[in-house]
Amino acid sequence: MIKFLDLQKINSKYASELKEVASAVIDNGWFLQGDYNKKIEKELAAYIGANHAIAVANGLDALRLILRAYIELGVMAEGDEILVPANTYIASVLAITDNKLKPVFVEPDEDSYNISEKSIEALITDKTKGVLVVHLYGQTSWSADFESLAKKYNLKVIEDNAQAIGAQYKDRKTGNLGDAAGFSFYPGKNLGALGDSGAVTTNDKELASVIRALGNYGSEMKYHNLYKGLNSRMDEIQAAFLSVKLKYIDDENAIRCAIAEKYLAEINNPLIKLPMVRSTDKLSHVWHLFVIRCKERDRLQSYLAKNNIQTLIHYPIPPHKQKCYNEYNELKLPLTEQIHKEVLSLPISPVMHIEDVQLVIDVLNSFR
Ligand SMILES: *Cc1c(COP(=O)(O)O)cnc(C)c1O
Repeated sequence: MIKFLDLQKINSKYASELKEVASAVIDNGWFLQGDYNKKIEKELAAYIGANHAIAVANGLDALRLILRAYIELGVMAEGDEILVPANTYIASVLAITDNKLKPVFVEPDEDSYNISEKSIEALITDKTKGVLVVHLYGQTSWSADFESLAKKYNLKVIEDNAQAIGAQYKDRKTGNLGDAAGFSFYPGKNLGALGDSGAVTTNDKELASVIRALGNYGSEMKYHNLYKGLNSRMDEIQAAFLSVKLKYIDDENAIRCAIAEKYLAEINNPLIKLPMVRSTDKLSHVWHLFVIRCKERDRLQSYLAKNNIQTLIHYPIPPHKQKCYNEYNELKLPLTEQIHKEVLSLPISPVMHIEDVQLVIDVLNSFR
């Protein structure tokens, strides 16, 4: 059986280092907001090239806290509009609605599945205060045109960098392209903790300090509360694990890229549409997911399953069609809806053997 993602194997590579830092945390008895948090924040900021990194409890909180900080700073207010790709993981949208901001869904670009820059301008109103760009599947969602559009309309650009740590636009890393970025270190992400955690990066000092306070009950000094905050902190043990794993992220992304290159070169079944890489920039895609499309997606998925290949669907239902968003259920976003019916994610990971990659290719090419 070729697993979609073998988390046990991914982490067992680093088992001795992980056990060592886990012991250190147990021995020193300090479990929150300690030296490992400081360490991972410093290392992450340096890796991304941003001035500030704030460790938080998960990726959803990272995005929620950014928007909440903009509200506290008076940059945004209840009812303001935030542009967001219609085809994203629901967390991107939850971060917006949780802050009583209004998501304005933007159809994707057919080739990259990222937000279509061409569709953005027509949706901007005087209520539009920001864009939440998602580097979906690991591909950088950025361009010079997009950057000047955001400037022209004075929009805050928030990056959802949950899927693309290590990706670049020219020589800048995702997480350092917009005004602030949210990261997820959910175990299945390219940089995964051994539990939940996340982070924010930004070059905005004021924003960083508000986010830091908001994630800690709204206080900068214990028992003095500036904001109605929440509790969103990264466990020391997760910070310690991430500090071990961050050292290997470039190597792991390179393996993902090599697998993707082989898939792209050798899958040649006309029933299958391969993902497109929009830029020739090095590392414009770090292949969190390798997503193909097929009109007969469900039949293809069972065919692969019969051949012992596990695949997943990212995602089966778009956010605007979810029960929790019944106020948006009637929206017509045909491209997004089509994509959700056709996408299928193939196994890809830094521990996948080349023979297994070959087997996936051969089975896909034999599908009729
Ligand atoms: C995983 C993910 C999130 C949320 O991260 P959590 O750590 O699970 O809260 C947000 N956005 C996208 C695009 C994701 O893939």
